[in-house]
Amino acid sequence: MNTPAPDQDNLSPVSGHVPVSLIDTHCHLDMKEFDEDRDEVIRRARESGFEALITVGSDLAGSIKGMELAGRHDFVFSAIGIHPHDAKDFTEDTYARLKTWSKNGKVVAIGETGLDYHYDHSPRDTQRAVFRRHLELGRETGLPVIIHSREAGPDTLEILTDSGVTSGVLHCFSGDQSMAEQAMSMGFYLSIAGPVTFRKSAQLRDIVRGIPDDYLLVETDAPYLTPEPWRGKRNEPSFMVNTVAEIARLRKVSPEDMARITTLNARRLFGIGTIPEKAAIAYQIRDSLYLNITNRCTNACSFCIRFRSDFVKGHNLRLGHEPSGGEVKAAIGDPSPYREIVFCGYGEPLQRLDLVKEVAGWVKERKGRVRINTNGHANLIHGRNVLPELAGLVDSISISLDAHDEATYNRICKPVFTNAFSEVVLFIREAKKYIPDVRVTVVELEGVDVEKSRQIAESLGAAFRVRKLDAVG
Ligand code: SF4
Repeated sequence: MNTPAPDQDNLSPVSGHVPVSLIDTHCHLDMKEFDEDRDEVIRRARESGFEALITVGSDLAGSIKGMELAGRHDFVFSAIGIHPHDAKDFTEDTYARLKTWSKNGKVVAIGETGLDYHYDHSPRDTQRAVFRRHLELGRETGLPVIIHSREAGPDTLEILTDSGVTSGVLHCFSGDQSMAEQAMSMGFYLSIAGPVTFRKSAQLRDIVRGIPDDYLLVETDAPYLTPEPWRGKRNEPSFMVNTVAEIARLRKVSPEDMARITTLNARRLFGIGTIPEKAAIAYQIRDSLYLNITNRCTNACSFCIRFRSDFVKGHNLRLGHEPSGGEVKAAIGDPSPYREIVFCGYGEPLQRLDLVKEVAGWVKERKGRVRINTNGHANLIHGRNVLPELAGLVDSISISLDAHDEATYNRICKPVFTNAFSEVVLFIREAKKYIPDVRVTVVELEGVDVEKSRQIAESLGAAFRVRKLDAVG
């Protein structure tokens, strides 16, 4: 996938409104703070566009109340468990009860469990033992585990590793970069809450910028951790829109993109809602519309997301068939509202040169702007110089160079052609003659000499940009 990393700064600031469905993956609707207006809070969440709320038990009474709420509201689900603060009250009878309740169809997770060495309300040995028992229950029931970890990173990771559990989330993540990477490498999601909006959360914001899309969840932890600008008030699920908007701002996508990504992740982890099965032909990211016209490619890049996932920014890109020109135009509709129409999906678009020319011409007639993201193999694929054919149809082209020499290119991109790297360089040179805006990119990878790559691009008169590994779309 040749999608460049985000390059716009003109994105929505914190807006307080996200017009797509959201899932609050962690709130405590059972708590007394909601006794006066619980139904109102749930109604406000529904009206703010939430498709699900997961109310998380901290003790037996809270778990029971959460199940009752889930029974009364179709879009409320529950998690059952004992918070580390109350680990001292955990008994074998607790385990048996949780196990029985886990069979309730609206119970979607075990937790919250974990370790809290900040308050130490229960002895640390007891917290560790009870955390292990919750992980056993997660393994036994097949449910994901919701983990609380405060000032207890090393022990949390050690216990998780020993448990063999790989399905769950570190809720309200407050660890460092190393902990984030270790948790994700074990398969755990990281859930971000209101503190990301706090002025002093610089480290958290840095981490949030770099979490791959596939590992990100969002939550309120209501009634706690109220995001700005409501800090100091009781938190509630509808306030999560500002947390989503801030995460979107940090990651240079739109709040709608962020909502789509995190909602898909929540559906996957907790098994709620439906996962889109049909691939998108046209899909929006930020204010551009991307076209997914083929899943074929003449490279097999080691970093290519299509080998790991069917989804980019919450859009399914695994095509069942290659769309016709008519299908692509119908998927675009009116191109004029978009900043650009970009040929870029799970494959090399210029494999379908005739379709690209047909659709690009159609977009240009409607005053749209056209970009192609390509691996630069088109002349090899078609056995001729195709760039003159794109003149007047394409405003911008982004070509993946991805290495500084042939040997490195062959190792990373595994092209089907010999001499592909030198042909990509020639393609860049030719592109400059026919397309107004030519950009060259490399992905930051071990063994890639970024400076040499930059020199190649600049010697050809092309703009140069480094893309971060795993930052797709
Ligand atoms: S394999 Fe093809 S689609 Fe995937 S990143 Fe490489 S050039 Fe792009």
